[in-house]
Amino acid sequence: MKIHEYQAKELLGSYGAPVPGGVLAETPEEIEKAAKDLIETSGRCVLKAQVHSGGRGKAGGVKVADSLEEAVSAARAMLGMKLVTRQTGPEGKIVRKILVTEAVDVEKEFYVSVTTDSEKAGLMLILSAEGGTEIEETARLHPEKIEQIPVSVTEGVKKYECIQAAKALGLTGQTEEELADLLKKMVRLYMEKDCSLIEINPLVKTRQGHLLCLDAKINFDDNALYRHPDVAALRDPSEEDPKENEAAKYGLNYIRLDGNIGCLVNGAGLAMATMDMIGHYGARPANFLDVGGSASVEKVTAAFEILLSDSHVKAILVNIFGGIMKCDVIAEGIVQAVRVVSLHVPLVVRLEGTRVEEGRRILKDSALPIIQASDMADGVKKAVSAAVGG
Ligand code: GDP
Ligand code: MN
Repeated sequence: MKIHEYQAKELLGSYGAPVPGGVLAETPEEIEKAAKDLIETSGRCVLKAQVHSGGRGKAGGVKVADSLEEAVSAARAMLGMKLVTRQTGPEGKIVRKILVTEAVDVEKEFYVSVTTDSEKAGLMLILSAEGGTEIEETARLHPEKIEQIPVSVTEGVKKYECIQAAKALGLTGQTEEELADLLKKMVRLYMEKDCSLIEINPLVKTRQGHLLCLDAKINFDDNALYRHPDVAALRDPSEEDPKENEAAKYGLNYIRLDGNIGCLVNGAGLAMATMDMIGHYGARPANFLDVGGSASVEKVTAAFEILLSDSHVKAILVNIFGGIMKCDVIAEGIVQAVRVVSLHVPLVVRLEGTRVEEGRRILKDSALPIIQASDMADGVKKAVSAAVGG
């Protein structure tokens, strides 16, 4: 799960990390009031579009205002605008909330993040002295400018790791101590709240000589959310894919992707293998979808409806291995589901496992336009050619 920058800063702030002051506003009046207070005290303020995406700065989602008039006109332009960043895709994201925050005198921008290193079963601190909006380019063109420091999950950040981090950023003295303190707080937050990413980009050194988290992004492990009702309450459904929200209601494990073959599979491993095989035969999956071990009629119907509501889907591939669930029960489920949805794209079904002959007969006898596949490769090939043909 993702949260907004303002929420990430509040959370970091509650752990004692240095974050600039700010107010969340949703109407021009609220923005004006918040901007007025900041401009009266410091002469400037920054308006930041709150959408679940990075790259806002380059897309017009971050504006520094030097007067109240400027702040108000920038706010009016920003509220309701469709922000298209390199992370949102062409459909963009509508700006509904704006963070009105202190304008900071920046001396230098750094990049600092914590994430999970699944290979080493630990954490990874990632740092760069060249933070800011060009970090992706730096990572691509100058990977040597990105420092990676493995951190133990049981022991936390150690002193020598903090020294290594400060060295990577070129920080000494006061700011070296501030960095060590921040890293410890980030790691504690990461562990206590079951995060999957905490990214501060940019972390800045101000002209006054202190570190400040100017931007913050935090992602959480969905599977651990049940332990953190406070974190789950930060969810903003309007920022999430409506199809993914719908799927979650039915307990379907669905992730939207950008190809055109809709997949309905039981088991995450088989779903991954199906996606790989679609790639192997020259096409791309429109989604990952694991209907789980108990593919009930209700679940399969919901899954079809979600796939069919995606205009990118040009063919559907059902790939089911009947283990505990028998193929004839699954086939009945598919037939019942297809009868209630309006199928407007070719449907390929590959069944294998317990009572597969009975299952195939049920599909055939249904007289529905179902293309049956003899095995997985056959199913994928038929779906790929059906998508091209359709
Ligand atoms: P992102 O583009 O979505 O990652 O949004 P950021 O919050 O990182 O803002 C993008 C850039 O705007 C930062 O890298 C800074 O250079 C600049 N910026 C944001 N807030 C301030 C501020 O208070 N003062 C200054 N000088 N620059 C800022
Ligand atoms: Mn940023």
